[in-house]
Amino acid sequence: MAETATKTDFDAVVVGAGFAGMYMLRRLRDELGVSAKVFEAGDDVGGTWYWNRYPGARCDSESYMYCFSFDKDLLQEWNWSGKYPEQPEILRYLSHVADRFDLRRDIQFNTRVTSAHFRESDNRWEIETDQGDKVTAQYLITGIGCLSAGQVPDIKGLDTFKGDWYHTGSWPHEGVDFTGKRVGVIGTGSSGVQSIPVIAQQAEHLTVFQRTPQFTIPARHGNVDKEFLDDIKSRYGEVWDKARKSAGGFPIDMIDRSALSVSDEERLAIYEAAWEQGGFHFLFASFSDIATDRRANDTAAEFIRGKIREIVKDPATADKLVPTDHPFSSKRALIDTNYFDTYNRDNVELVDIRHAPIQEITPTGIRTEDGDYDLDVIVFATGFDAMTGTFFKMDIRGKGGLPLKEKWAEGPKTYLGLSTHGFPNLFMITGPGSPSVLSNMPVSIEQHVEFISDFIEYMRAHELDVAEADADAEEVWVNHVNEIANMTLYPLANSWYLGANIPGKPRVFMPYPGGVGPYREKCDEVAANDYEGFLLDNEAQHFAKVPHEAVKMQMP
Ligand code: NAP
Repeated sequence: MAETATKTDFDAVVVGAGFAGMYMLRRLRDELGVSAKVFEAGDDVGGTWYWNRYPGARCDSESYMYCFSFDKDLLQEWNWSGKYPEQPEILRYLSHVADRFDLRRDIQFNTRVTSAHFRESDNRWEIETDQGDKVTAQYLITGIGCLSAGQVPDIKGLDTFKGDWYHTGSWPHEGVDFTGKRVGVIGTGSSGVQSIPVIAQQAEHLTVFQRTPQFTIPARHGNVDKEFLDDIKSRYGEVWDKARKSAGGFPIDMIDRSALSVSDEERLAIYEAAWEQGGFHFLFASFSDIATDRRANDTAAEFIRGKIREIVKDPATADKLVPTDHPFSSKRALIDTNYFDTYNRDNVELVDIRHAPIQEITPTGIRTEDGDYDLDVIVFATGFDAMTGTFFKMDIRGKGGLPLKEKWAEGPKTYLGLSTHGFPNLFMITGPGSPSVLSNMPVSIEQHVEFISDFIEYMRAHELDVAEADADAEEVWVNHVNEIANMTLYPLANSWYLGANIPGKPRVFMPYPGGVGPYREKCDEVAANDYEGFLLDNEAQHFAKVPHEAVKMQMP
């Protein structure tokens, strides 16, 4: 039985046992020596990779960088089989990490945190779960992921559908056999683009319901090259260092070259080479102004449009697949294997629901304005209520009983994406306002976990009980995030980065787009300045009584 099963008061409670929660537990328990308990909704570790088991699920980060770096032996000993890590292999990796560091004994599985209320009388969080647990903790740390609240659109008639339906983000563990089935996939984001080619190979017929055509770059997936991996392993320290200082958390050489500074022939040759190399290199290693200059972006977008027309044989289908309403990479850049080729198959049909929207789901399929499509299975690859959705599934209340949902009613407000004013000792791993989803996640997760554990260590060393984001520092940070977002092309797309995929969600750019390198520097500076921007104290209620300026940076 888990050692913590009967204990009810902890130094820290961590929500979630994916990459974030697992490393947080390791740091808290094994390095800081504090008591920690993790609650996890699934029946094992894995987070995103536990739930997203749809066909073709795989990470777009190359495998040698989609892992933990905190343990050198682990880095050297684990061998990835593919260039990109596939979902089952990532899950095996995380299970191995859980075994290796004996993490499961402090993780309570099959348990969702339902509420967390800050108790001002003694500065503790009161936490309750759907299994009836009632525990308290000084620190509440969320490792809940940014994309974990699945979004099934509210389409009339879904409850009447006689076939089976699934969301990619909570896929049955036993898998789904599509043999002989007429399948409909709604959605052409990362999950749709990965699953569509795989489902097409198995299903009798596949109908893809597309609302927004997408730019996608070939992954060039394959077995991992042993020589390449040996070389990386011989200089892993330097490789990680480069990734930590980079924009996106990858050790890719950024090119300081405008797409508008070269001749048409040279630009084309660069794009061709990047297209051949595949993956995020196309975005990061071709030109430096694709994400910020519309004219530069147009050259990349036009190149990809040309590729779509080259690959897709039927011109009418190609027309529907060519994206025209947003700049390349203003929605999450997609990486695919045989996505556009799939539309050359006889058993695949593309339905444009931007022009003929879905009216309803009937007992036998999907009805659009253009007609009826008979289906045995519907797959919703319709994404997530990103970044805030999972927070709002829990009833989190800060000082004065303020619900987080209320505080963030007009969009999430955080200091560094780590903390939010009014919610003392709540730390968010890869929260809104941090690079998170715009980066290779393990790099950002490790940085946050290390920041939080260093902060807790500091508080203990200085006998401080409470840390809370200062309201002014938070406002400055939120404005800074918006300012940088407005220097990019991101605001020009209706993406989940802006909450645009959820009806009624405020349109606010949520992740920090300034790059993981500059962001890390900022966090390091905050820590070096005795956690500048946080209110620190050891007296209950103190903050409520003293004006902010008086307690700001009140350090020994
Ligand atoms: P997504 O990017 O939000 O895509 C959802 C798709 O469903 C879009 O095509 C969207 O159309 C469509 N859709 C949503 N609501 C709809 C509605 N009511 N009617 C019709 N169509 C609708 O979701 P996702 O593909 O699950 O990916 C989410 C994120 O997870 C990714 O951006 C990525 O960060 C991460 N992810 C990563 C990987 C990977 O590393 N390979 C794999 C999967 C997911 P619109 O574009 O018109 O909104």
